[in-house]
Amino acid sequence: MALSEFGLIARYFAACGAGRPDVRLGVGDDAALLVCPPGQELAAAIDTLVEGVHFPPGCSAASTGHRALAVNLSDLAAMGAQPAWALLALTLPSADEAWLSAFSQGLDRLARAHEVALVGGDTTHGPLCISVQILGHVPAGTALRRSGGSPGDILFVSGTPGDAAAGLMLEQGRLAAAPEAAAALRERFLFPTPRLALGARLRGHASACIDVSDGLLGDAGKLAAASGCGAELLLEELPLSAALVAAAGETRARELALTGGDDYELCFSVPAERVAALQQELPPGEWGYRAIGRLRAAADVYVSSAGRRLALAAAGYDHFS
Ligand code: ADP
Ligand code: MG
Repeated sequence: MALSEFGLIARYFAACGAGRPDVRLGVGDDAALLVCPPGQELAAAIDTLVEGVHFPPGCSAASTGHRALAVNLSDLAAMGAQPAWALLALTLPSADEAWLSAFSQGLDRLARAHEVALVGGDTTHGPLCISVQILGHVPAGTALRRSGGSPGDILFVSGTPGDAAAGLMLEQGRLAAAPEAAAALRERFLFPTPRLALGARLRGHASACIDVSDGLLGDAGKLAAASGCGAELLLEELPLSAALVAAAGETRARELALTGGDDYELCFSVPAERVAALQQELPPGEWGYRAIGRLRAAADVYVSSAGRRLALAAAGYDHFS
């Protein structure tokens, strides 16, 4: 590497992210020293992005920096937690300064937007791989979990799922769309928005919550299973973006909304008797979420259309006969 490991850290990462008074010691020593506020529990998560697996080879470095942090922020959002500190384990094939500059800027911008300080990490040589560990806090005993739902609870999702999957297909040349729709969908894949404000406000409303990283149907299924429930999702209630429908057509758009990954939206359940209070405090139009189904006592998870169950096949939907 032309740039030394130490020089690289000093130039791109020592001052990355927000400054915070609760960082007693950040990048530069053997460990960071952090002050956890009294009465709060520490929330910790880690996610790894591997080139060629989680993002296409040659993907925008600014996007990769953004996504490496965003996927972790999304995990804290799903817990209703407030992010504070991040650590970055970076494996690089070379010290490519143009890449490092764009990557660190993408990371820095999102970190500052959420007042997250980068407090340490590790830098090694090898195939491109990025791990970010996020640390944050949540008032003791109030974190959202996947496991709190009950039969009858209404299921909601934020945003317009499916957009990121279409954006990735556009990036890879597996889908074509008019420029405006293509740009909007690409943006959803490259620069996802972690729903931290919504997650925090859902504490006290939601019975269970999960972030949608692997597809709405699968992740709603994980929430349901953790809650000891099944779930019904209503095909006609899926929130589809105009860009997704324009690019993929309505049938494929619904399928992507159910099975496409990388959206980093929140899927959450709310007891039916609490829905009015939720919608009054957090108007759905303003906060961008929508009811899409409900939890059920029976363990199966399915999608229905006009009262009929659909079977999701690889090629699309088949009605049960
Ligand atoms: P050690 O060998 O003790 O683990 P390193 O020499 O690997 O320490 O790292 C020196 C300092 O730089 C440490 O404080 C570490 O947390 C930080 N650091 C290393 N790589 C990164 C990175 N990619 N981003 C942020 N901080 C980093
Ligand atoms: Mg080290």
